[in-house]
Amino acid sequence: MDLANIRDVKDLLGRHGFRFSKSLGQNFLIADWVPRDIAEAAGLDKSCGVVEIGPGVGCLTRELAQRAGKVVSIELDKSLLPVLAETLADFDNVEVVPGDVMKLDLAALSADRLNGFTLHVCANLPYNITTPVITKLLESGLFASLTVMIQKEVARRICAAPGTADYGAFSLLCQYYADCDLLFDVPAGCFLPAPKVTSAVVRLAVREAPPVEVPPDALFRVVRAAFAQRRKTLLNALASAYGKAFSKDELRQVILDCGLPETVRGEALGLEQFAELAWRLGA
Ligand code: SAM
Repeated sequence: MDLANIRDVKDLLGRHGFRFSKSLGQNFLIADWVPRDIAEAAGLDKSCGVVEIGPGVGCLTRELAQRAGKVVSIELDKSLLPVLAETLADFDNVEVVPGDVMKLDLAALSADRLNGFTLHVCANLPYNITTPVITKLLESGLFASLTVMIQKEVARRICAAPGTADYGAFSLLCQYYADCDLLFDVPAGCFLPAPKVTSAVVRLAVREAPPVEVPPDALFRVVRAAFAQRRKTLLNALASAYGKAFSKDELRQVILDCGLPETVRGEALGLEQFAELAWRLGA
């Protein structure tokens, strides 16, 4: 069965009485180059164990299974399980795990089912959970890389440089944990049904060591404070978040001691400058 052929996919889903769910972000790929190029971009070999989130009808799963040692695909929609049993019947290195990726214990799942493999994530992510799921995957410390298709707007935020409109707390979180690359765009016409936005594939190559030495909690407390009110100066943003511990004059001095002008906005700062701020504010 050709999972890139819209007729085959519609026929398959019809036979199983499947109904698309918008709230589960179900936009299935129907262009064969896309799952192939995503799997290729993940840079897999037989030493790799892949966690896929949301296999849908299994088009990306098949590409992953051909390249990796083993694939574990987490699918929340139980009505897709009989579909996947059919489309993945020829692959003995794929395990479909029913469940919600946001609730599953990924460390236990990997230890049980992917022991001995180098762990990677590769997925066409459900758009409604893009940010929390990427955060969970990065914070888990389990994976060597994440190669994921997401909304282009979020892909640009992940890879954004300081001082640009797309730059924010999520850029800093992703760039703290990983080297982030925007690889290629995928037009809406490649999906069934077509989403309203353009998609893009990003690769997050997880760093072996953090790029700055500072406790992550302290770092992200300053980052969150700086971006909580984007239009405020850094000084005013810090005064809102750290006002109990520091007077405004003390905060002004902290900013000046970091070599920054007192009128600077948070969006101008890179990871190293946020790390220095975090140390000075008592990391
Ligand atoms: N991989 C398929 C493809 O590329 O055609 C489907 C991708 S579709 C964008 C997202 C998939 O994630 C759907 O199969 C959906 O049911 C599943 N999904 C949605 N929320 C999920 C969650 N919280 N945990 C696991 N799977 C989820």
